[in-house]
Parts: sequence; structure tokens; C-alpha cells
Amino acid sequence: MRRKIIAGNWKMHKTNSEAIQFVKMLKVKLINFKKTDIVVCPTFTSLSQVSQILDSTNIGVGAQNLHYEDKGAFTGEISAEMLLSAGCEFVIIGHSERRQYFNETDQTVNQKVHKALEKGLKPIVCIGELLEEREDNQTMNVIERQVRALFAGLSEEQASKLVLAYEPVWAIGTGKVASPEQAQEVHAFIRNLMAELYSNNLAQSVRIQYGGSMKAANAKELLSQPDIDGGLIGGACLEPDSFRDLIEVAEGF
Ligand code: PEP
Repeated sequence: MRRKIIAGNWKMHKTNSEAIQFVKMLKVKLINFKKTDIVVCPTFTSLSQVSQILDSTNIGVGAQNLHYEDKGAFTGEISAEMLLSAGCEFVIIGHSERRQYFNETDQTVNQKVHKALEKGLKPIVCIGELLEEREDNQTMNVIERQVRALFAGLSEEQASKLVLAYEPVWAIGTGKVASPEQAQEVHAFIRNLMAELYSNNLAQSVRIQYGGSMKAANAKELLSQPDIDGGLIGGACLEPDSFRDLIEVAEGF
């Protein structure tokens, strides 16, 4: 049985003081949730303080990006070791907003996955098709290309440490959630592809989150699909009660 994993991607929201106030509330509200892995991914500037507040709680901390080099002249970037020193356990890699606005490619995603694993961070790797690609019946081709690329050069042991997030780009921040059938179809496809690339064992153990306008009201249907193992959450993670309500749904599985 794969444990559900719900991760909140704060994107570019919350100042330091807002972040501190938020996680202080959150840790109280989530204290009794035991069955779900819970992660929050604040901005870089709040990581350190958020990690201290959430230390020894049931809430893990992740970053939203990293650079694939160890150090050097990369103005504005942040390294895996810096994230570890700020208390991070997870890191989101290849979010569609990074691919769309910051020139992230299948190749840089793969480089970042390698670096995160080498340093001991747990990557949450995002994949997903654009609306035009879905309308053009290209969804599975795009997903296959992204999945093959992100796993390139990884051993089975390394691959087993990943969490994947299937996020149809047309569903992110739009309120237009994928139907449970649409999401399940892609999740099953990804799992079959992992079995082909590695083994059935690996495919059955790697968790695949769904992301795209997931909230408490639609989470049950999505999470009851056999290959949907959690959610990567944008809008619904920004208020303590909406995030709590969503995790309560995940706890029911
Ligand atoms: C996301 O940013 O990964 C996301 C899924 O956002 P939202 O939940 O707002 O669609």
C-alpha cells in the first residue's frame, strides 16, 4: 500500500512573518493526521524558519526549485546543500511554471533530479501536458517524453526515491480539474512506463501525485483512483483550513 502524500506548493506567496504565522497554525490543525505524508513548500526566504517551527512534527518541508551545480557564479540560484542546510527534505523539480517562464527543459529537470538525489533531497518531479497538446491527442506522447527524460541515467535505487506529480497544465490554477478518469488514465500510463523502464516492483512503489485545482471538494474522487497517490496543491494550500480539509480527505484512505 502506498501512503498518500499531499504537498502544498506556496509558489510566490507569503512573507516571512506570514509564513511563520501560517505554519504555527498549521502544525496545530494537522497534529492528529497520521496516515498521510504532508509537505509544505514555502519560498526560499522562509525555508529556514519554517523548518525550525515544523521540526519534529508530522509536516515535512520542501523547496520549489534548486540548481544542478554545487556552487559558483549562478546569480539568483540556490544549491542542494543550501536547501539541506535550511532544513529541507523535499524539492519540487520541473513545475510547469518553471518550464513555461524560466526555460526549464526535460534536460535541466533530469540534471536537477540527479543533483537532488546525490545530495539526499527527495525530488517531487512534475510532468504534464499543455491544453493544445491534449486537444491534439498528444498527451501520452508528451508524458512519455517527460518521464523517459526525467529518469535518464538513474539507477533503480535512485528512481525509487522519487515522487512524481502529474499536473495537466490546463488544470493548474484554473479551477478546471481533470476528471478522475482522465487523471487515472495518465497515472496508469506513467506506472506502466516505469515498469518498462525499471521493474514492476519499482512501478508499484513510486508515488504519483495529481496536481491541478485539487481541493477538499474534489479530492475524494481523485484519490480513490487506484494510481493516484496524493496531490500537489497550489491554491488550496494557502489557507490553513482548506489545506487541513484536503488532508482530512486523504486520511480517509
Ligand atoms: C500547482 O501549482 O502545482 C497546482 C496544482 O496549483 P493549483 O492547485 O492552484 O491548481
